[in-house]
Formats: sequence, C-alpha cells, structure tokens
Amino acid sequence: MIDFVDTFCPECDTNVRAILREQPAALRVRGEEVDFTETVAICPNCGAEIGDSRIEGENLDRASAAYRARHGIPSPEEIRRLRDFYGLSLREFSRFLGFGEQTVYRYEHGDIPDLAHSLILEQAQTSEGAQRLLAKNRERLSKRSIESIELALSTPTKELAWMRPLPSRLEGQAEDAPSTKNGYRAFDPDRAMALTYLLAQRCKDLFWTKSQKALFFADMFACACRGRSLTGLRYAHATYGPVANGREGLRYLLAEDGIVEFRERNWGEVLVPGKQLANDPFSEAEHALIDGIADFVNSFDTAREISDFSHELVCWQDTMDGQVIDYAEAAEEVARAMEARMPELGSLVTR
Ligand SMILES: [Zn+2]
Repeated sequence: MIDFVDTFCPECDTNVRAILREQPAALRVRGEEVDFTETVAICPNCGAEIGDSRIEGENLDRASAAYRARHGIPSPEEIRRLRDFYGLSLREFSRFLGFGEQTVYRYEHGDIPDLAHSLILEQAQTSEGAQRLLAKNRERLSKRSIESIELALSTPTKELAWMRPLPSRLEGQAEDAPSTKNGYRAFDPDRAMALTYLLAQRCKDLFWTKSQKALFFADMFACACRGRSLTGLRYAHATYGPVANGREGLRYLLAEDGIVEFRERNWGEVLVPGKQLANDPFSEAEHALIDGIADFVNSFDTAREISDFSHELVCWQDTMDGQVIDYAEAAEEVARAMEARMPELGSLVTR
C-alpha cells in the first residue's frame, strides 16, 4: 500500500500529494546513535524530499522509541497506564516514585526518563518494588493515595496485561481447567516457551506479531488433528489478527529465562532463539507437527500476507476485538484453510 500526504513542495512552488517512503535512518538521542526507520515525503513532480513538521515529529518519536526500547525505558503511554493502575494524580504519582513535583507530567508528554528514574519506574511495575517505594515515600503521600496504591496492589483483577506478572500468575491461565477456550489443555508455560523457542529457531524473520499468528496456527492445527492444543494458550481477536491472551506474561517469561531474545529490527522486534529449555515437553509426533507449522509460516513472504490469510478466517471475522477465539469453533476451519494452502500438512493429520 502506498501512503500519501498533501503538502507543499518548495522546489515546485506548488501543493502536491507527496509519496511517503520508509527508509533506514540514524539519529543521535542523548548523545547516542540510534537506528530506526524514518518516513520521508517525496514530491511526485521533482522527486525532492519535502520537510514536513508532522512527519518529522513522528520520526523523532520513532527515534526516541528506539532509544527507549534499547535501554528498557518505558514509553509515555506505559507510564500513563502505570499511573492509572495506581489511580494517582500526576503530583501524587511523582511523590510515590520519589521524583520532583510534576516530573511524571514531563515523562507522560515525551521527555525520556534518565537512567535512575527508569529503574524506579521499573520497580513500580512489580508488586515487590511498589511495596518498597510505598514504604520509602509513604510520608509524602496523602491518606487517599496510600489507600489507592494498597488497593491496586491487593486486587489481582486490576492487574494490567503489560505489568510483569510472576510465572505462576500468567493472567490466571495456570489455574484454567481444560476447556474449548484453551484447546482442552490447562495452560502450560513450559510448552508455550518451548514452542516459541522452536518457532523462533525455524521461522525466518519471526517478528513478535508474526509469532502470535504462528502460535495460533500451531495450537489450532494441533487441536484439530490431535484433539488438544500444544500449549493451552487462549487466543483473542486483535486488529492485526489473532493474538495469545497473556502474551505479555509469556514474553516476560521468555526474556527472563533467556529462552528467546527480542532484537530490535526495522521498527519491530524479531525473536531470536536463546537457550533451550532443560526438558523437552514435546513428543516426536508433536515435533513433526511443529516443523510442519514452521514450513507453513515460512510459506508466506511477508508479515502482511500471513495477516491477510488470518483475516480470511471466519473465526477471525466473526469475533470482535478482544473476544476469545474458541477452539471448538475455530480449530477445524483453521486446519482446513492451512491444508488448502499447504497440502503437505495433511500427512500430519491423525484424525
Ligand atoms: Zn517538487
């Protein structure tokens, strides 16, 4: 798809519909060279690059996001969500963290937190860290704020998806009984991690969003042809295709245990296999199936193609954003669509 922007070309001295192009770029952020993908507007008449404040603002945001990702610094949006989680005003959240008055305001509006503040923000993302911050800065906080923080920390349902969950609390999935929602298997973190590792090893350019689709196809196909999902993950409808419920928790486990490394590339993150799990949870037949799924994922040339494929599925079309895609309704359809695209997959079916 080609994107355009209506702007003014100073070379041609006229209004033009400029073509937007993406290209690799480097910029210094805080004295450090950061690689990112920039958008440039090209004049369709003379081919000149047109400076446009809207595009430049976006490019600066991207460069700073790349810098943040490199150093694990939370984004303005993440900081806002963290504050929402604790139900605090800007000033009270600053006090809770031990920052100067209104510092959080600057961070929520794009200023990049320094390293010391980043570490404190990271602390505030775990319940243990938050308890320590509360103990340390309690005197500076109003009674109401203290209650609000304590309430947030004691109410598991208030847990945000992106908050770093403990392994046992992967969005409560570990407690799930086998059902049509998890493909007749209680969620198994070891299997989810081992499957992600194998897919990262075998699929080319496994970006994070693509990995979600790969897991979805693997679990649905396994459910259709072996009667159970491989991991017990639940999947939900998202704008760009199916995603695993609890993916942020899974991501945390993968990174924490070094199973998969998340490497920034072209304005996205590629999964690179790290160290293998000590125990292989999969049978030989399951390994054959996972190899077949990897071939299937590799049969798509671009992330766009695999997205388009998932958007053709009735189980995706008939669900709304955030709605769980039920294995009982989806698995057969998904497996049939996969076999239609790749008949070799049929040999893995033991129906
Ligand atoms: Zn021009």
